[in-house]
Amino acid sequence: MQFADIIVDISVKSLDRPFQYRIPESMEADAVIGALVEIPFGKGNRIMRGYIIDLSDTPRFDVTRTKEIVGVVRQGVVAESHLLTLAHWMKRQYGGTMNDAIKAVMPVRREIREKQKRQVCPTISRQEMFALRETLEKKHQTARVRVLDALLSATPYEAGVDYDFLCRNYKATLAVLSAMEEKGILTITSARLYRNPYENIQTKADVPDLNAEQQEAVNRICRPRALSEKGDISAEDEKDAVQKNERNSHVYLLHGVTGSGKTEVYMQCIDRVISAGKQAIVLIPEIALTLQTVNRFYARFGDKVSVLHSRLSAGERSDQYTRAKNGEISIMIGPRSALFTPFERLGLIVIDEEHEGSYRSESMPKYHAREVAVKRAEMLGADVILGSATPSIEAYYLAEQGEYEKIILTERAGGARLPSVEIVDLRRELEEKNYSVFSRSLAEKMRERLAGHEQMILFLNRRGYAGFVSCRKCGEVPGCPHCAVSLKPHSRYGKVSSLQCHYCGYEIPMPDSCPKCGSKYIGMFGLGTEQVEQMVAKQFPDARVIRMDADTTGGKEGHDRVLEKFAGGEADILVGTQMIVKGHDFPRVTLVGVLAADLSLHIGDYRAAERTYQLLAQAAGRAGRGKRPGEVVLQTYQPEHYSVVCAAAQDYESFYRQEVLMRQVLQYPPVSHILEILVLSKEESLAKEFAKDLADKLRCKEELHVLGASEASIGKLRDIFRYVVYGKSADMEKMIQAKDELEEYIHGKGLGSRCTVQFSFD
Ligand code: ADP
Ligand code: ZN
Ligand code: ZN
Repeated sequence: MQFADIIVDISVKSLDRPFQYRIPESMEADAVIGALVEIPFGKGNRIMRGYIIDLSDTPRFDVTRTKEIVGVVRQGVVAESHLLTLAHWMKRQYGGTMNDAIKAVMPVRREIREKQKRQVCPTISRQEMFALRETLEKKHQTARVRVLDALLSATPYEAGVDYDFLCRNYKATLAVLSAMEEKGILTITSARLYRNPYENIQTKADVPDLNAEQQEAVNRICRPRALSEKGDISAEDEKDAVQKNERNSHVYLLHGVTGSGKTEVYMQCIDRVISAGKQAIVLIPEIALTLQTVNRFYARFGDKVSVLHSRLSAGERSDQYTRAKNGEISIMIGPRSALFTPFERLGLIVIDEEHEGSYRSESMPKYHAREVAVKRAEMLGADVILGSATPSIEAYYLAEQGEYEKIILTERAGGARLPSVEIVDLRRELEEKNYSVFSRSLAEKMRERLAGHEQMILFLNRRGYAGFVSCRKCGEVPGCPHCAVSLKPHSRYGKVSSLQCHYCGYEIPMPDSCPKCGSKYIGMFGLGTEQVEQMVAKQFPDARVIRMDADTTGGKEGHDRVLEKFAGGEADILVGTQMIVKGHDFPRVTLVGVLAADLSLHIGDYRAAERTYQLLAQAAGRAGRGKRPGEVVLQTYQPEHYSVVCAAAQDYESFYRQEVLMRQVLQYPPVSHILEILVLSKEESLAKEFAKDLADKLRCKEELHVLGASEASIGKLRDIFRYVVYGKSADMEKMIQAKDELEEYIHGKGLGSRCTVQFSFD
């Protein structure tokens, strides 16, 4: 006898528990995972619809009381059933509840019925709007300035902004908007449902002739097997092929230096995919989802494209999903969540900047978009292209293992040269009594640029910066002797009292002199963009500076505006954090200065070197994207560190070799897997004791190395105490098993809302 676990129709609230039903023999062939079925539900046995998420041949309850499925509605390859199967896989892979997983794959649960959708569109040009904004700001007309800010941040500009969104997020009122409409600044229109927000964009793009490397990449990715072996096959045949698993999915790692024309390669591959009647998803990190990037796709593919981004209203999102489901569009561009676009004929998933941290979800289930993309593609027989100038160690490792096919682009498209890089030793500067944050060499190059009216970027590497202790004299940063990561300062009563390893809990009291050179100048490192801005003003009073970081630019709108000002030549120097590293081309930038290149080496994470390499290589990639060659200055206390040396030489291969060796020695991913167990509770002792209990349970498992329990790197967040346990093993299946058992154990404890436990894999 066969049994099915069924999630009742997704509009029902308590989804969490799958219900088990018996499968009548006559339906066994059709009742596959993902099938939509009809079942009698509840006391009244009302007939409801549900999806099969799992099959088994053992009943969980009394067989005589288990109800039967009454009919299979659809057994086909509908997007929903695939997404549900995917959700099920994610739940098992990453832990958490089925409800969490379903929420992740179906962000729009129900179609939101729009009452009357209104749109606010500009009637003056972007330049005029900028000018008007300045004027109104001087007059302190803040309500109107807010409206202009919203309009200026629309992508594309002509499309305007959703009325409700404007009122909600920018506190606009009908009175203000009407007044502005009367002045001829904007119009308020009611839009029809399923509107394409990008309808009125002009599309026409010159398709560049690919260079030899790009062409070779496209040919390899699109070689006949990559589309469909049988050519243009019918939906029925395709369904067949997918079910028989005939269409093998393939993953490509496109490793190309910055500016090597990866985006061109994606677009050509997408072109082929949609010509074959299939659909494509393009994931781009939110931070890089700029007007520039999106417009390239619109210019090429017109209204076949849709974009999901965080500034769409719920209604607009819902529209985009519906259009995708109805097959009205063929390409969806967006951040992580766009991965779950309900395309039924998905042929290709592109993940640009594959190494980006934002591809990992921070809420349950803590999935990684790369892994889920590969799984989804596998289920549908689609292909995946992972693109990066600085691939993640994981992806490169899998390529080395033969899981992914590696394709390399070695030169910049369009002939631009890679910049030359100089490494400056900050310890030397101090010895030579230069106390400025700008080394002598950087200062001189800055002076040259200012004189020659060229632009430059000063980059403060602050990725994942949570503070660390370092010696101002020799650059020493105390590290954990067991885990090869830097120790994190822990404060009690507003003062740093100790340094701790956030993996294993190793702890030392805060030293009062440098353990290496004995200098008294040891303490928390503190340099912000604001200080850098002030120092520029002091040392280069004539320079026009703009600053950009997460705290100052008021989210993405501000971010785009700052970048636009800079691109428009309104400033000589852009000071910022990692936010300026990508998504924008600044052809007039000929100098990039990285003020403290090694900062990201101290994030207390085993990925520190990888992050550092990525940031430095990407920052360097910003220089010299135009006709003039670029120069890069990397200032660092650790000029000999391999991440710095290899980034300066743009030598990924060497970096990878050294890094993967480290990971092997210390049993870090991708060589081994890490299970992170985060225990959260308002009661500190409960969090601590329960974490210890779980660690002990985990220690009973074979072939599993356990670290902790210890306080999480953020030990307390919004009054909730956080403890962590880490498990390491080379065997992923074992880890998943251990996690499943712990979940059972935790469930049995019945702690309810007093204590929650989150699992994630690394
Ligand atoms: P990546 O995505 O690798 O950073 P892009 O695709 O953005 O690179 O290309 C960088 C620049 O080079 C862009 O301005 C693009 O228009 C241009 N470009 C790309 N391919 C070609 C080509 N084959 N011929 C001329 N210019 C190209
Ligand atoms: Zn020292
Ligand atoms: Zn440690």
